[in-house]
Amino acid sequence: MVQKSRKIWFDGKLVNWDEAQVHVLAHTLHYGVGVFEGIRCYKTDDGKSAVFRLTEHVDRLFNSAHIVLLEIPYTREEILSAIHKTLQVNELAEGYIRPIVFLGAGEMGLFVRTNPVHVAIAVWPWGAYLGEDGLKKGIRAKVSSFNRHHVNAAMSKGKVNGHYVNSVLAKWEVVKSGYDEAVLLDTEGYVAEGSGENIFIVRNGTLQTTPLTSVLQGITRDAVITIAQRLGIPVKEARFSRDEMYIADEMFFTGTAAEITPVREVDDRRIGTGKPGPVTRQIQATFFDIIRGKNALFQHWLSRC
Ligand code: PMP
Repeated sequence: MVQKSRKIWFDGKLVNWDEAQVHVLAHTLHYGVGVFEGIRCYKTDDGKSAVFRLTEHVDRLFNSAHIVLLEIPYTREEILSAIHKTLQVNELAEGYIRPIVFLGAGEMGLFVRTNPVHVAIAVWPWGAYLGEDGLKKGIRAKVSSFNRHHVNAAMSKGKVNGHYVNSVLAKWEVVKSGYDEAVLLDTEGYVAEGSGENIFIVRNGTLQTTPLTSVLQGITRDAVITIAQRLGIPVKEARFSRDEMYIADEMFFTGTAAEITPVREVDDRRIGTGKPGPVTRQIQATFFDIIRGKNALFQHWLSRC
């Protein structure tokens, strides 16, 4: 269960958590045309808090809306300040931030022009998405029987509500089979991404991730690439097959919710030694220092509360 906060920012007002409701004919509920973000706020080492890469998340929210023809009735600055305000009023020092833009009730059918575009921002405490143990020891993943969408079926650069049916089904399938997370292949059979994460492998000291073609442009993915470059670890963006994943020395998922979660097994094949490897651990440690405000080089990624 989501742990309730006091207030949700809803169309410009802070309303009580239980009163942030919508009509059953809200268009997005029926057809899935809505967009959202997942953002994290962390306690920093100065005793305060900071949101990780807030501007990039708000930019992606606007890009997602643009892709699916939704016009957000607020400016980027208004959304940025609404997020800070929601954190403040709920006195949330560390947790998850969920902005959502959706079409309300009015017209029905697929071609609608007059339905209101609503914006809500909820925040709540949320620990490690794939478990504390997963962060430390690595998780077990399985390739799902569901492919990631073809790029001309659902556009992967948009974080669009309806697209997540594919992720939910993949996640459900593998969790029901006893695994922690799904790996989705693209429609050509190459590795694409997790149900809510990007994927990295390490081979012979080189970090490799899938190109952006059929995956979400992850903000954690970008952070990892930048961190690796700073650490002098070679990085390449090139597609790879599932068996290249099996023979990788190391593997990990990246995402706002999953942070940097090592993968110790895929499809019952041990990855490397079966424990988080040195490259994964180095990148993970640097990432956790950055989000806690301990790395002077990456202060620009923190939006202080
Ligand atoms: N891929 C998908 C499908 C996702 O839902 C997410 C989570 N937003 C990611 C990748 C990772 O993106 P980010 O690092 O920006 O959270």
